[in-house]
This record gives sequence, structure tokens and C-alpha cells, in this order.
Amino acid sequence: MLNFFNGFLQKKYSAKRVVLLAFIAMFFFAGCVGKPIEIEAPKASPKVLPPPISIADTSRKTPREIKEQNITLIAVGDNLIHKQIIREAKTKNSYDFTPIYEKIKPIVQSADLAFINQETPIAGEAFGYTGYPSFNAPTTLGDAIYAAGFRAINHASNHSMDKGKKAILTMIDFWKKYPKAIPLGIHASQEDRDSPKIVSIKGVKIGFLAYTYGLNGIKLPKDSPYLVSLINREIMAKEIDALRPLCDFLIVSAHWGNEYEHTPSKQQEKLANFLADHKVDLVIGHHPHVLQPAKWIEGKDGAKTLVYYSLGNFVSAQNKNPRMLGGMARIVLTKRDKKVSLENAELLGVVTHFEKGYTGFKVYPLSDYTGDLAKRHALSKEKLDINYLQKLYRSVVSKEFRADSAP
Ligand SMILES: [Zn+2]
Repeated sequence: MLNFFNGFLQKKYSAKRVVLLAFIAMFFFAGCVGKPIEIEAPKASPKVLPPPISIADTSRKTPREIKEQNITLIAVGDNLIHKQIIREAKTKNSYDFTPIYEKIKPIVQSADLAFINQETPIAGEAFGYTGYPSFNAPTTLGDAIYAAGFRAINHASNHSMDKGKKAILTMIDFWKKYPKAIPLGIHASQEDRDSPKIVSIKGVKIGFLAYTYGLNGIKLPKDSPYLVSLINREIMAKEIDALRPLCDFLIVSAHWGNEYEHTPSKQQEKLANFLADHKVDLVIGHHPHVLQPAKWIEGKDGAKTLVYYSLGNFVSAQNKNPRMLGGMARIVLTKRDKKVSLENAELLGVVTHFEKGYTGFKVYPLSDYTGDLAKRHALSKEKLDINYLQKLYRSVVSKEFRADSAP
């Protein structure tokens, strides 16, 4: 594993290093935090991407210099559960969504921590199973994404309130059955909202916050304004500044942007700059349902922030070609001599596959998607083919972030 990542780090675009931590701050604040959730990497399945050749010259390194820890983080976009997907998951007595994720699971499980934007509620039977425009899916959808390896699950989206406050509280309760799951962006109380969401992996503390631009016109109940984290700079500044000194690496999930646009909006760019000014290390963007670029931006103190503007769809029953291509952010953090740095960042392609009559939903890494599969895609009649997907990937994702295996 280490060799794999050592090689990974030596790639031509591995130069961006950001020193992320005033370590003294950690010692000062460590005592104030609740115990971070200790996450073990889900059991890795066989690698699906070819390991890059290691060109590291370790001959002159002292043992102390070699002692370093690598942590891989993965993030994917909109898990958008339309009624066709629920129908397809129906079994005799329940709903089984696990086949959707079986092709992507090996990559997800190869990471130390994986994030997903759960765009739509998964509050279970009591709230009715519905699709657009007011969604809700069986709780077994949550079981399936957990089994696929996702641990950080964003619930702050424009659909958070589709089934109201009770559904949100039900989802928070649902995740309690998985002590290592970290539901983000929804909160049972102000106290719950104020408790830092920090995951400790190999001694590195990773902090999360998550916000959405709105709730499709639904207002938060007056007695529970904490329920869903909305984009509000005043509150965000307070929450980010409180969490920043408690973690080594700070991630903000942002549900933002204009639907179906491949270019970030002015508002996204402005908010990204605001986040950079507040020393956020990584921004994971979603909501547009199509892929937008990844970019490095600089905060006012000169520190760098990596922004994935939109990871597009992960799975959906939408039926337009550009919405079939999503993205998977994959980054490697390295802890070396007590410093944490971001060593490598990629934006891999993922494909939502389904066939005629909205059957056989599956997410594939673009690198594994074949011409034959594309021929079976329901949208092949709309000229969706492998060339279209690869061309779209290359037109949105700059070389710096492309996968090794990208054509
Ligand atoms: Zn959305």
C-alpha cells in the first residue's frame, strides 16, 4: 500500500504542497474536543486502478525521513434517488441498492475516508417512497452506501426538508446504528450542531462542515434554526473559525451553483474565496448535477485551498447525456515530521449507467467504462458513447487533475 502511494506522490503534478497545521494549536485545543471518531479504512478490495510506477529514490533517506503516513480521501457527488431507482431496488421483502455501487466499491474502499453527497432524504417507509420533486428513499439506501465504504455523508442539500423536520431527525437516528458514520449538515439540536465533526485517521484530525444554499423554498422551523446548515457567511465564519484550530485538515461541503452548468457561477467563486480566506483546506462542491472543474485558489494569507466546484451526479435517473458523467475527488494527505500536507489531488470520472426502461443502475469508474457498456446505456440512442464521455471529461477536468489512466 505504501509503495503504491509513494509512487502516487511522485507524479509530475505532485508539487502542490500546503503546510496545513500550526501544531502548537493542536496541543492547545486537543483537550477541548470530544473524542474524535476513529476510522479504520474499510477492508480494501483488489485495486481497480493500475498502481503507478514508483520512481522514489529512497536510497539517501534516513529512517526518520521515511517515516510518513499517507491518507487517501475520496469524495463523490449527487446520490439522487429517483423513483425509478427505488423501483429497481425492490426485492421480495425489502429494497436492495447494493448492486448500484458494486463496481465503484473497490475504489471507495481503497480510501481511508470516503464522502458522498446524499442529495435526497432516506427517511424510510413512514414518509412514503417518492421521487421528484419531493424525494424520499428506503433506509436500506443508507445501508448500501455505508457498505460501499462511505463514512462522511452529506445531508445538507436543497432537498433536506423534502419530508420535514421529523424525517431529518429520523435520518440522524438511522446513522446512529453505524458509529463510524458521520452525517453532515443536519442536526438534532444546537448542541449537536456545535459539537465538532472531526474524524481521526492515523493520527490526523480531519474536520467537516457542510452547507446548502437553500431548501427549495421551505423555511426552517422557527424553533429549530439549527436543523440544516444554510449558507450564511456570518454563521459560517463563526463555525469555521471555531473548528479550524481543532483539526489538521478542514473540509467544507458546499451545496451550491447553477444546475446543469459546467462553469462555476460568480457566487460559487465568491464563496470559494471566502472559504479560502477562512483557511479551509478543501471544498467539496455539489448540486449542479454535472461536472465542474477543480481549482486551486489562494486565501488572503497566501494559503492554498483546493476547490472541487461540482462533482456532478453519482447516481440518478436523469436522462440527459452531460448528467451521466460525474466526478470522484481523490486526494492524498501526508503526515511527515508532524506536518500534514496535501500531496496529490485528482478528479476521476464516474459514469451513471442504466439501461432501457430505467433498469440496471450502476456507477462505474470512467476508466473501466467500455464501448460495449455504453452501447447498452439507455441514452446510447441519444448519442451517448465512450468518446462523448471521455471528451466531456477532458473538456472540464484540467490535465493537472486527470487520472493516470485517462486517455
Ligand atoms: Zn441539489
